[in-house]
Order: sequence, then structure tokens, then C-alpha cells
Amino acid sequence: MLTDPASTAAAADAIWDGLPGDRYALDDRERYVESPRKSCDPGAMITYRGTKLRYSVPVTVHSAFRERLERFETVAAEVATRVYGRTPQRIRHAGGYNCRTSTGRHRGRLSEHALGNAIDIVGFDFGPAKKTDVLPADLPKPLRHGFQVRVQKHWGSSRSASAALHARFLRELTEELRDRRDIFRGLIGPADPKHADHLHFDVSPWRYVRL
Ligand SMILES: [Zn+2]
Repeated sequence: MLTDPASTAAAADAIWDGLPGDRYALDDRERYVESPRKSCDPGAMITYRGTKLRYSVPVTVHSAFRERLERFETVAAEVATRVYGRTPQRIRHAGGYNCRTSTGRHRGRLSEHALGNAIDIVGFDFGPAKKTDVLPADLPKPLRHGFQVRVQKHWGSSRSASAALHARFLRELTEELRDRRDIFRGLIGPADPKHADHLHFDVSPWRYVRL
């Protein structure tokens, strides 16, 4: 029997499907709290600048989330090298730790941002190609110079060969992240109207994918 993708997505919202052995430091944290602000723990946060790749500005996250970001950087570097022949100079983000509750239908539940357990990615900045970079033969010429990839502008775009390649980069990146169950559990992108300009990644106890 064919299942309606919408109902499948809704059902997935409540399904715990962490890998066996994939225990995570924040799995047992209570998310439904009386006073969200009292539940925030700024002392558990670290300032992180990136390991494999650099962030445009340091991101504040829970110490447990750092390792997930490192894995994310490795995937982003691999996909970028495949698509553009080099890694991004900077990852542009719009915030990690933010002491607030969720909006919409999950009002009253702590946002994963309140736990420092999420990041919002706006895009990637690339520098000019170096002589030593092995560029794909079909790389559009303008992309030998520095350029920016933005979720808002390039997700699903095909206005030019360059834009179409940026769309491919974002698609392949999110597909790999979706398939890698050891990195993020929540992945939300422009399929959700509130995420038209960024990708939200978290390690909530619930698997939720809407890209
Ligand atoms: Zn977010």
C-alpha cells in the first residue's frame, strides 16, 4: 500500500529512531517544562569556531553538540570538494544556543536551540580556487573565483549554471546528512515555510526530516 508522504512525515515526527548504541548526552533532558527560561543552562555551552571548516562567527552550543558539528563539517567538506573542487572558507550560521521555547504546534516545548543542541545554517562562502585545486571539468568559469551559496537564494534554483550547481550542492549535502544517522536527527529546510532561508539541524530525541 502506498503511503501519503504528508502522513508519513507527520508520523515520523513522533518516532524515536536513534540508532542502537547512539546514546546522546541530551537524550534524557526534559523538553516539556513549566518555565523554559529556568531550564536553560548557559554554563554547559562552549564557543566553537570549527575544526575541519570555519564558521563565519563562533557558534555557542552545548559541549555534546560539538562532535556532531565536526562530523557535519567533514560531510560538507567532502560534498563541496566533489561539487566545486574545494572546501568552503566559511560556514555562515544564524545561531546555535538560544534560550527559547518552540513556536507553532510545539509551543511549551523547549527548542533544541535552548539546549544548545541545534544550529541554523544560512549558507557557505567559498574563496577563489587555488592552482593546486583539482576542479571538476564542467565547473562554470565564474566559480573559479570566490562565491557564496545561500539557502534562501539557491535552494532549488536553476537560473544559471552556477545557481543550478549551488542547488545541487545543497541537495547533495542535505541528502548525505539525512542518510548519516550518526550526525543529526532533526533536519528542516525550505520545505517548511519558516525555514525558507536556512537549514535547521539538531540532535533532538525525535527524528524529524522536512527538507
Ligand atoms: Zn533552528
